[in-house]
Amino acid sequence: MSGAKEDRPEKQVIPVYFDDDADLGLLDGTIAIIGYGNQGRAQALNLRDSGTDVIIGNIRDAYWDIAVSDGFEVHEIRSAVKRARFVMVLIPDEVQPRVFEESILPEMTSGKVLCFASGYNITFEQLVLPHDFDTILVAPRMIGAGVRDAYVKNRGFYVFIGVHVDISGMAKQYALAISKGIGATKPGGALLEVTFRQEAELDLFNEQCFGPAFGQVLTTAVDVAVEAGYPPEAVLVEIYMSGELAYTLEKIAKLGTLKQLELHSPTSQYGSMSRGIRYANPELRELMQKSLGEIQDGSFAEEFAKEYELDLEILEDMKKMAQDVPIVVLDKEVRERLRYREDA
Ligand code: NDP
Repeated sequence: MSGAKEDRPEKQVIPVYFDDDADLGLLDGTIAIIGYGNQGRAQALNLRDSGTDVIIGNIRDAYWDIAVSDGFEVHEIRSAVKRARFVMVLIPDEVQPRVFEESILPEMTSGKVLCFASGYNITFEQLVLPHDFDTILVAPRMIGAGVRDAYVKNRGFYVFIGVHVDISGMAKQYALAISKGIGATKPGGALLEVTFRQEAELDLFNEQCFGPAFGQVLTTAVDVAVEAGYPPEAVLVEIYMSGELAYTLEKIAKLGTLKQLELHSPTSQYGSMSRGIRYANPELRELMQKSLGEIQDGSFAEEFAKEYELDLEILEDMKKMAQDVPIVVLDKEVRERLRYREDA
């Protein structure tokens, strides 16, 4: 039977590392941050504040100017790679293959360390690397703004680290040191060692299974309540607009699913526990397994590479069609009625 306990692979116990395991002193050469965007800016500022020598490699655009005004030495990408010992690739995954071929690989002499923030391109063979320099993964489970914010507040965060190629015998130590430099090992943070494949597949699993399934649950709940005659304004505020949902998710992250329940009233606890089992739907499990299968066998990556070649045509069409989906229309109307202000 699919999903039966005996069919499942053995549970792995992965190595986990903390502040004491990482030695910042290993970052004794120049670090080039390639791409000064979401992750690039945050990681560059944090590494500089950790006392390392950071330069930026970027195309000449608005991000270049921001890096200059933040006080960094900024170079064309190829020139930054040439000057650095550690090269951190922080440009979007889909543009990496071309930029890598033209501007990074030619300057990746042996002894340098190449660091990715995502396992996608290596796992799905969008990038095939020669094996003559260390290639590692330091992938924060946190958006760029959060990476900077946590550092400033002296809080750590979770990072998936990994080693793809270890020429020096020190690759893992470099991944630990970079993680420490970006602030991940401050109090509350931890480094989880995974493979590039595990990082890439789990990331896609979250994006393609949990995220959209959760979106469908939310939409269904809104539909059922509106159809039952409750005012749409009240329904949207009750279900997600109040921000209570975001607060609950934050508590789940901090306390765990069961313990956070204690923050709710006994009526809420009884109601959700006694009714919860009704929604344990075997079909949902099968659909998630189907999407996971497409991730694992590479068919999603192949499909997306074709879509990218077509300038994301299908994605643009889907976004246009989504404008007319009832919950999107309703959301817009309700926000107008409630004089919602993004900046408030
Ligand atoms: P961004 O979309 O913020 O872009 C980063 C930089 O890449 C910008 O400076 C951008 O400049 C530049 N860039 C874009 N296109 C090109 C191009 N064709 N040639 C050269 N430079 C280009 O990236 P993210 O920070 O979101 O992602 C960087 C990496 O971090 C990815 O591997 C991602 O998977 C990973 N990651 C991202 C997380 C996140 O929260 N965003 C979380 C964890 C990992 P411009 O746009 O002006 O061209």
